[in-house]
Amino acid sequence: MPSGYGFHKEKMKKCAESGGKRSSGSGSHLLANRAAMSIQCKVCRQTFMCTTSRSLLEDHVARRHESRSYDECFDE
Ligand SMILES: [Zn+2]
Repeated sequence: MPSGYGFHKEKMKKCAESGGKRSSGSGSHLLANRAAMSIQCKVCRQTFMCTTSRSLLEDHVARRHESRSYDECFDE
């Protein structure tokens, strides 16, 4: 019975979500991580947390892309 199985799966998912929030929050933490990785180097496609400071990004440019400017690697 595919419909019954689907319902069960959905129920389990909801259960896991609420459980994750109450305890360590590992499930939502993963989601938050993905959303937070919003800065991406345009040259090597490495991603950074949106909270990464500009000096750290400048450090990335200096170490990985010596011949490039900051603007060539990041938008802001
Ligand atoms: Zn890079």
